[in-house]
Amino acid sequence: MKRGAERRIRAGHPWIYRGEVADLKGSWSAGAAVDVTDAAGHYLGRGFYSPRSSLVCRLLTRTDEAVDAALVRRRLEAALDYRRAAGLVAAAYRLCWSEADGLPGLVVDRYGPVSVMQCLTLGMARNADWVREALAALFPDGPVVRLDDPTAARIEGFEPVREAAPEGELVVEEGAGRFVVTLGAGHKTGLYLDQRENRLLTASLARGRRVLDAFCYAGGFACHALLGGAERALLLDSSADALALARRNLSLNGVEARAELREGNAFDGLRELATRGERFGLVVLDPPPFTRRKDAVEAAARGYKEINIRGLRLLERGGLLATFSCSHHVTPAMFEEICRQAAGDAGIRARVLATLTQSRDHPVILTIPESRYLTGLLLESA
Ligand code: SAH
Repeated sequence: MKRGAERRIRAGHPWIYRGEVADLKGSWSAGAAVDVTDAAGHYLGRGFYSPRSSLVCRLLTRTDEAVDAALVRRRLEAALDYRRAAGLVAAAYRLCWSEADGLPGLVVDRYGPVSVMQCLTLGMARNADWVREALAALFPDGPVVRLDDPTAARIEGFEPVREAAPEGELVVEEGAGRFVVTLGAGHKTGLYLDQRENRLLTASLARGRRVLDAFCYAGGFACHALLGGAERALLLDSSADALALARRNLSLNGVEARAELREGNAFDGLRELATRGERFGLVVLDPPPFTRRKDAVEAAARGYKEINIRGLRLLERGGLLATFSCSHHVTPAMFEEICRQAAGDAGIRARVLATLTQSRDHPVILTIPESRYLTGLLLESA
């Protein structure tokens, strides 16, 4: 690495950008493991080389251990141990979350007996067999489905592999709820597992309330709230496919009679509800990332502020707002500031009941700030 560039790496961050590379010595090939050294030649670690990406290497190890099938197996075992000890092994959970589990470029989600693996770097894609072997050893009876993310594959320069899911419908339990998982057809690998703990939390607060689930996707928040005793729920999403999935889940949970689904832009939907003077006891705002780029954070902040003004205005006295951002570049402090401004503009005095984040099966590593991407607040109209 160039002189001085290794400071971040030594402080525990695993990424090496192209501009930080002084030279490539010895033999190397795209997608194979390379050694990374500082300017003086001292070993820093080892990771797959990705020449096409601006992120040319993500360290898999900082010790002198081989990058091989055994390393992948050890990392996946450790990931499972952490989740077992923390009580996070459920019917559906994330087993491996890339950097946060010491395997940059690999996501593994578990849906019942099925493991869904997603390769996000060239090196991981080239060595997908190591992952399959490790998963076969950990879960001898479960099938493995590989569902690479096409965007990551394009950036890294490999052909994404998207395998067919096993026959039959997959239904998984989450708390008191049951959800259909359509592997490969929907968002993420099937479900937004990162919101699991927040769905369960809001459900526990929903009794007797009228609920608005905006940006509902498969209706997870609404289903849980209704199962938790909410009076009624209104679900909003701009995607007809998402609403079809939500309808399936509402009926699977036997709560469809108390739900209403509306297709459309949530920005407009929220405004219309306010114009009509509608009020809710619980509002959930879980939009898609408004930005994936650092230079677009300001525009994203305006979007978040706008929906939160509208969401806050819909609260009855004592009503709750569970509001989220999953934009990597919006930090918890920034999000709180955005919501503060929204409350100011809306003229609402809001009590902060909790600061929310991603479920613990998506661990946050302190020295890898990018590992926290989901932030949220639970607010009460005081
Ligand atoms: N809360 C969900 C996940 C939401 S994902 C869960 O827990 O599973 C975000 C959703 O927002 C997607 O379903 C997407 O279709 C929807 N969406 C994106 N832009 C939108 C818009 N402008 N108005 C309404 N919905 C939108």
